Amino acid sequence: RQAFFRSDLSLLLERVGSGKESLSFMRRRMRRLSAQWAVAARRLEERLRGQYREQKRILVHVGFLTEESGDVFSPKVLKGGPLGEMVQWADILTTLHVLGHNLKISLSVKELQGSLGVPPGRGSCPLIGPLSFDLIYTDYHGLQQMKQHMGLSFRQHRCHIRVIDTFGTEPAYNNEEYATLHGYRTNWGYWNLNSKQYMTMFPHTPDNSFMGFVTEELNQTERFHIQRDKVNNMAVVYGKEASMWKGKEKLLTILHRYMDIHGTVYYEAQRPPEVPAFVRNHGLLPQQELQQLLRKAKLFLGFGFPYEGPAPLEAIANGCIFLQPKFDPPRSSLNHEFFRGKPTSREVSSQHPYTEQYIGKPHVRTVDFNNSQEFETAVVDILKDKVEPFIPYEYTCEGMLERVNAYIQHQDFCHRGVPFPKVNESRTWPGNPPSPFLQLPNSTALIWAPNISAPACWPPLSALRLVLSPEASSCVKTCQDAGLICEPAFFPFINNMEAFNGLNAQCESLEAEKNHVFPAVQVDRRECFQQKEPLLFSCAGVSAKHQRVCPCRDYLHGQVALCRDCL
Ligand code: UDP
Repeated sequence: RQAFFRSDLSLLLERVGSGKESLSFMRRRMRRLSAQWAVAARRLEERLRGQYREQKRILVHVGFLTEESGDVFSPKVLKGGPLGEMVQWADILTTLHVLGHNLKISLSVKELQGSLGVPPGRGSCPLIGPLSFDLIYTDYHGLQQMKQHMGLSFRQHRCHIRVIDTFGTEPAYNNEEYATLHGYRTNWGYWNLNSKQYMTMFPHTPDNSFMGFVTEELNQTERFHIQRDKVNNMAVVYGKEASMWKGKEKLLTILHRYMDIHGTVYYEAQRPPEVPAFVRNHGLLPQQELQQLLRKAKLFLGFGFPYEGPAPLEAIANGCIFLQPKFDPPRSSLNHEFFRGKPTSREVSSQHPYTEQYIGKPHVRTVDFNNSQEFETAVVDILKDKVEPFIPYEYTCEGMLERVNAYIQHQDFCHRGVPFPKVNESRTWPGNPPSPFLQLPNSTALIWAPNISAPACWPPLSALRLVLSPEASSCVKTCQDAGLICEPAFFPFINNMEAFNGLNAQCESLEAEKNHVFPAVQVDRRECFQQKEPLLFSCAGVSAKHQRVCPCRDYLHGQVALCRDCL
């Protein structure tokens, strides 16, 4: 059946229901953004005219909101707890609804069992029949619940699952055997999914799919009002909890020399939060009122926590400049408590690396907050800067609809569209190496555009550009430095001798191993290594000794998840 765009959200609002503060928060958001979703749907429909879109049967099981997982979020919605997840789930549900799919929402284990057709009273190992869904969106909590209640069928049906995973999961952590053997085992990872089945809040690593969320857009009148009403010396501090302000008195004092400071810190009537007296604290605001505050403010100031939330994008969309601390050395699960145990080694270079890397000046300034002089200079510069409201296309409703539609229509983890190439046995070539040996440059990458005609692959292989990384560089970084992005779907096509030859790797020996940095080359020893385990293909992997064979591709400006020929 064909899917048709929907611009009316009433059926969705009914299905989401209320009764919990988290659900009411989501419904309020859906309602508030309904007009902008409708406009985006119309525009995308126009652009995709003539394209057949199949209607999918989709189950959305929001694990972290179930009573069975403790539902720690709902009671905190009105108290300054994390709201980013709620924002994202509201937008995912809306996207799936607007795209015209057949949606079932589950918020408890009982509803999950009902949807999956698990017979009541069966033990922990039921065998359920054919799945009545094409796709299941859930989170790590939901994944655990599904495994528990699907028994043996879980393995068989897991290719249909998509996991909403805020910070991302890298392949080395996802492959159970490898994670256990090599110290990548965490409480979250090791599900042996295709890493693209994990969907993140920001485009953290191309090993995962970038799901995202949306930012509220402005119409012409609102833009005009913003220009007119901006207060040049007004700052809003990012941080709903008093703990986020701890130890920042010195910075606040500097800022206060130049600007009036506003905050939205949650507090209970009897106990005002511990913020300096010169701060005007509004208490936690409803989203809409926060938007109004941001429309007036010139500066949105992050103190380093929370990491990678939606609020900085909202501030930039409302014409603020986001000032945030640089993390030097970068923080990661290897050196920082918050990230410890998360299934990724990703290095976080500032409070909000996405805004730093993809948006930058004049909307974003990332400075060393330990250096008061640098901080003060940034504040003075911001007072002089003129900025326009800005939203990257991928965070608009149209951008999110376009991206998720492409995933739904093209991503398929159930059938291996491409047969995994037969990996050669380890072998060594006797006699002289082929000559002349070409010294591979260490700094500049070698790019080879292979001429492979391949069966159905998405993204299409026409986008592939093969790059050899310098030593100690991941494919994420290598592709980025070449103005491209790493595309893990291409790994199976470049795990072979043609690719090594194309890059002039001059292999004297070739081995196949399970290692998350392979395929790779040890140039000085003329040793080439193929990947033996498809689940370990990884853009993120780095090795000091190896130069990696990286499958890169182009991407659309403002829509990094998609390539030119992807639509
Ligand atoms: N927010 C809000 N009222 C406030 C402060 C924040 O409604 O007073 C909303 C904000 O609009 C954003 C969401 O909370 O969409 C999440 O904010 P944040 O970036 O702090 O991320 P979190 O840590 O909550 O996931």
